Amino acid sequence: MSTPPAYALTAVHLYPDILNIYGDRGNIIALRYRCEARGIALQVREVTVGDAFDPAECDIILAGGGQDREQRRIADDLQARGPALRAAIDGGLPALVVCGGFQLFGHRYVDHQGGVIPGISVFDLETRHPGPRADRCIGDVILDTPEGEVVGFENHGGRTYLAPGQAPFGRVRRGFGNNAEDGTEGARTANAIGTYLHGSLLPKNPALTDELILLALRRRYGPDVTLPPLADDAERAAHATAARTAERRSRAAG
Ligand code: GLN
Repeated sequence: MSTPPAYALTAVHLYPDILNIYGDRGNIIALRYRCEARGIALQVREVTVGDAFDPAECDIILAGGGQDREQRRIADDLQARGPALRAAIDGGLPALVVCGGFQLFGHRYVDHQGGVIPGISVFDLETRHPGPRADRCIGDVILDTPEGEVVGFENHGGRTYLAPGQAPFGRVRRGFGNNAEDGTEGARTANAIGTYLHGSLLPKNPALTDELILLALRRRYGPDVTLPPLADDAERAAHATAARTAERRSRAAG
């Protein structure tokens, strides 16, 4: 008879069938691995257009990226979920939303055709695509964040602008970031993190993965919960390789 897990968490993956073209499912895989390696049971619920879902019943929300047309496909459904998602995040629900998902957690995304896709205003920001002839922001990224150095890969046309007082996720050391102008990347409100970083992000950034798990555990089980360390040799090696690649390509680009 195996001993029941001391802790159990529920992660909700939003629109995995639609916001799925940049491999961000790897974030779910990393979260699951780093939970189960510690005996934490992780249930993953996939929620897509039309599915019933109460954010108050989950412990962490994740969403990935998508092209403009996929963002248009989910916009109305996300709008309907906006008030409950904002209330849950204001109440401390951890979230990781990436690129296309991140943009729609702001006020709006003006897409490459000039069409306005409404967001749910979790973050005080808006995103504007400069048009189909503009260069995309594509490449390796190194950030400095409160969780330390974070590495990833970006591929977006939209440029995101934070309102005064909206905290970024990090500052760009290598890469474009939110808009290739102000050195910010992503956004952070309470325990919700928005970012452009694909990669996927979490497998190469174990400290960030553990931060999200710990936030979810402490929100459900109380502030004294701790997370034992894991042997992170492979993750750290992947992180170091990504950072070296970003530095090398940045120098080559001049
Ligand atoms: N379609 C959005 C853009 O081009 C988001 C892209 C993405 O999710 N990688 O900015």
